[in-house]
Amino acid sequence: MRSSLQETAAEPLRDAHGRSITDLRVSVTDRCNFRCQYCMPAEGMEWLERSAILSFEEIERLVGVMSGLGVDSLRLTGGEPLARREFPRLASMLAKVPGIDDLSVTTNGWFLERDARALVDAGVNRVNVSIDSLARDRFFQITRRDALPKVLRGLEAIAAFPQVRPVKVNAIAMRDYTEQEVLRFCDFARSTDYQVRFIEFMPLDGDRNWEPDSVLTGAEIRALIEARFALEAVAREPHATARVYRFADGAGEIGFINPVSEPFCADCNRIRLTADGRLRTCLFSIHETDLRGPMRAGASDGELAEVIRDAVWRKELKHRVNEPGFRAPPRTMSAIGG
Ligand code: SF4
Repeated sequence: MRSSLQETAAEPLRDAHGRSITDLRVSVTDRCNFRCQYCMPAEGMEWLERSAILSFEEIERLVGVMSGLGVDSLRLTGGEPLARREFPRLASMLAKVPGIDDLSVTTNGWFLERDARALVDAGVNRVNVSIDSLARDRFFQITRRDALPKVLRGLEAIAAFPQVRPVKVNAIAMRDYTEQEVLRFCDFARSTDYQVRFIEFMPLDGDRNWEPDSVLTGAEIRALIEARFALEAVAREPHATARVYRFADGAGEIGFINPVSEPFCADCNRIRLTADGRLRTCLFSIHETDLRGPMRAGASDGELAEVIRDAVWRKELKHRVNEPGFRAPPRTMSAIGG
């Protein structure tokens, strides 16, 4: 049933490039219990003040305003979303927002063993787990946490619920690290139901160490795989970030998310809300739109909808990572969320 706001704001969210915006990613916290080298310094980041973080009710309200504007797919991210206290209760509130048909979570997997049941009861229907290595020592090397066994148990725990599908495993692809992981992940993808995807390293790391050369591209990884297994391309879904291939012998699929070498901005339908209430119209946005301020100052849903619509109209056409003069956003990945 569409709310009155949906009636009045029936015009779907669209940017000036003609793209409809239907996918919202909400970072529910900037905090994380891992220290992945491609994301955060060993000592962590300066965390947002608690008072700056949106409450559950504020997130619910903004998601409601955006679903009224046509957003129907919601991904909850962090930092580490499950590190936020009572996260399953938030997920349950958001699953009930009219118009939200798809609710997913991106997690490092550490809390999944504890929260799997609660997430399913809350209405989460898809889960992405970040795992960059299937070797315990190398997992420790990249995340600075000896956590692989617990994360794999968490993966099994959530996969035990058939109502959560697909369960995806995301591995960040970095030169001089991931090459040694590729065939292990192929075996993993071929022997389980998990959809394994390699994601190119992006210039959003807290240490600002990213260099174009540090990217191991999807094409390079595919070449490593095709030296052992024949692959067949699967037709790309509209708005999809991954290019998926099936193993020609039928033993599963593997995917590549190549934002650096093969950008997918042309049909991007995504916007992001940060934990402190700022709207980001692109992962690489330099500018953000404050929603927390007007909301806490008493703006109506209609007024918030206009602020959102206006910001989305100015959504960036594409990222400029490969262009001279590219400026990385001031906010890094841990405070943006995937
Ligand atoms: S880089 Fe920006 S425009 Fe491109 S796909 Fe990502 S969010 Fe969309």
